[in-house]
Amino acid sequence: MSDIMIAPGATIGILGGGQLGRMIVLAAANLGYQCHIFEPQASCPASQVARHTSANYDDWRALKAFAADCDVITLEFENVPVDAVNYLNNDCDTPVYPGAHVLRVAQDRALEKTFLNNAGIATAPWAEINSLEDLTASVKQIGRPSVLKTARGGYDGKGQLKIDVNTDLTQAWHEIGQVKCVLEGFIDFTMEISVIAARNLRGDTSAFDVVENQHKNHILDKTIVPANISNDIAHKAMKSALTAVNTMDVVGLLAIEMFVTPTGDVLVNEVAPRPHNSGHWTQDTCVTSQFEQLVRAVCNLPLGSVERLGDAEMQNLLGNDIEDWTKILAEPGAHLHLYGKADAKIGRKMGHINRLIKKN
Ligand code: AMP
Repeated sequence: MSDIMIAPGATIGILGGGQLGRMIVLAAANLGYQCHIFEPQASCPASQVARHTSANYDDWRALKAFAADCDVITLEFENVPVDAVNYLNNDCDTPVYPGAHVLRVAQDRALEKTFLNNAGIATAPWAEINSLEDLTASVKQIGRPSVLKTARGGYDGKGQLKIDVNTDLTQAWHEIGQVKCVLEGFIDFTMEISVIAARNLRGDTSAFDVVENQHKNHILDKTIVPANISNDIAHKAMKSALTAVNTMDVVGLLAIEMFVTPTGDVLVNEVAPRPHNSGHWTQDTCVTSQFEQLVRAVCNLPLGSVERLGDAEMQNLLGNDIEDWTKILAEPGAHLHLYGKADAKIGRKMGHINRLIKKN
């Protein structure tokens, strides 16, 4: 089984139809694959470039018909209901990569941190919180400032609350919604970095170079390639990424976001088993993009070269940033990627620019 390759011409199913799904489709098409999107919303960035089933994740008939049309299924967001993934994989016999065991862990910050720590990967000090009593005790232990995060469903800083010297814990517990959370020590980091690792069914692994991520309002603004870090820090980041992708038994991609501390430690913040915004630079600067690498991994092809052709920068375009598209097109060395979204709401990811800063 682990030697069987899914050859070009086959159909790859993708759960989720946002910009990541769209860019997986484009990379898959370059290798001669077809794609079929499963996404509840009737209109989405990926549906403009692939077949589309618009149905809910508990619509078993729609899932069955979708599975029947696909040779393998992957996903572009980790919050796909695990029941749907189990149904596709176990009842419909169409393999889903990464599998339900990976999603279960990635969907819950407490399970994720437990998993990482058990694999010997360092994180910020943390505690699971299920009540106001837990919160009070853990704030005493971890100290202030600290960060309270919902265990499930948070992204781009949503579902997060900083606990400062003056924060009233009863109010914080109500504000976060009295749901399962984790409390993390606040890390006074010198840099945020990430690595995207890939693993195919055969167990071959590979990882793109370590990059620096700069956020604005908790949303990724810029990725700088390579990160300006010592070899020692780069080595620690790579080691964590490859340990995580192997230990979690991921088939596909695993993006690992990390903090670098003033003393040179590398602490993993979170992982995502899918293509990641901080890997978009690979499209125009690496021999293989993160999207092609995902296609190779889930089809069990040999992984592509992650060689970097130069120094680069990725700039996200949010909301009406895309009104500058003519200026960007005129800029030498800039590659403009737009996601085909009609409505440029404030803070919405509309596209990105990859800039080659210096060729190797
Ligand atoms: P997350 O949703 O966990 O990726 O957090 C979003 C952003 O909040 C991160 O990229 C950091 O900039 C910041 N952040 C999250 N957790 C911490 C922490 N424990 N200490 C300091 N900053 C944090």
